[in-house]
Amino acid sequence: MTGGCLCGQVTFKVTGPLRPVIACHCVQCRKTSGHHVAATSVRRDQIEITGEVTWYRSSETARRGFCAACGSNLFWDGAGENLSIMAGTLDAPTGLAVKGHIFTADKGDYYDITDGLPQSEKADPRLTTMVAD
Ligand SMILES: [Zn+2]
Ligand SMILES: [Zn+2]
Repeated sequence: MTGGCLCGQVTFKVTGPLRPVIACHCVQCRKTSGHHVAATSVRRDQIEITGEVTWYRSSETARRGFCAACGSNLFWDGAGENLSIMAGTLDAPTGLAVKGHIFTADKGDYYDITDGLPQSEKADPRLTTMVAD
């Protein structure tokens, strides 16, 4: 599986299994994405990144990686063993599916979540550590 930013300065290759896609509606994800984040993740030693990723420390425990040339949101890097990858940066076909929503208490007031998938008002490790089918 491959992916990259809009301008092509940053590309990456994933060599291990990807987690199902989880949508995060927290304020930080809303601000950085412009809507909400939909992200998969992979073990850190199973992704090869080429090009220059710029990192923004968005909290005490996490940083967000983007391309400084085109502004694409690429990665969320938290405390766990996985690196989150913004699902929209993957090249198709991904074979992935959205499997749930987290931080729904912080979601924008201009949309509803109507897909019937599991929702959590806060963080939910059951969703964010889900393994692929
Ligand atoms: Zn770029
Ligand atoms: Zn979030």
